[in-house]
Amino acid sequence: MRTLPAPPPRIARLPKNRAGYPVPWFVDYANGEPDFRIADTRKLHGAINLGLCWLCGGGLRNEVLGPAATQYAYVIGPMCAVNRVSSEPPSHRDCAIYAALACPFLTTPGMRRRDDLPDGIVPPDGQMILRNPGVTLVWVTNTWRMVGGHQLFNVGEPAETLWLREGRPATADEVHDAIDSGMPILHATAEEDPDPQRALAYLGKQYARALALLPAETAVG
Ligand SMILES: [Zn+2]
Repeated sequence: MRTLPAPPPRIARLPKNRAGYPVPWFVDYANGEPDFRIADTRKLHGAINLGLCWLCGGGLRNEVLGPAATQYAYVIGPMCAVNRVSSEPPSHRDCAIYAALACPFLTTPGMRRRDDLPDGIVPPDGQMILRNPGVTLVWVTNTWRMVGGHQLFNVGEPAETLWLREGRPATADEVHDAIDSGMPILHATAEEDPDPQRALAYLGKQYARALALLPAETAVG
């Protein structure tokens, strides 16, 4: 087992799997064992209807200071900085940072996703990009908005973006490479749009907006 960063208290209270990793609140069980690749759909409803943290299950809303002080943190891949949607609900900022640092898939670019999900598992809505970009983004925002008709979250305008790679801050070059390596997928989708010219122009704007969020070189170290 790798040495993990110290978990925030609400993650430390979660049950652990046999390998000693905290089991995120959203995780479903198969044959009595937690399967980290599968989200419990009841938890999705709880997260949406009650505003619960996807990772620890605690309330996200700041009951004292109100909505303007409530932070929603999404753990997303770099392409989600372009299309600004997440298939997973938000979490507390500290829970999200811990997950981005601790999750073996997110922190080990060489690891491939396993596609052999058990029967009856439905992949989440939206365009899942099943590749490991090596760079993970913790996207912190003050808004909560779902994409109409889909179980997708519009991540809104970021109050803060934290780019991570292998358990450390990612450099601007690494983020740029990770975004560029996924653009052909989004390009291909835009070309299939009924109005490809409009879709490609919009994608170009989204791309420029994502590049504006690259980490400052001086912040890395
Ligand atoms: Zn949490």
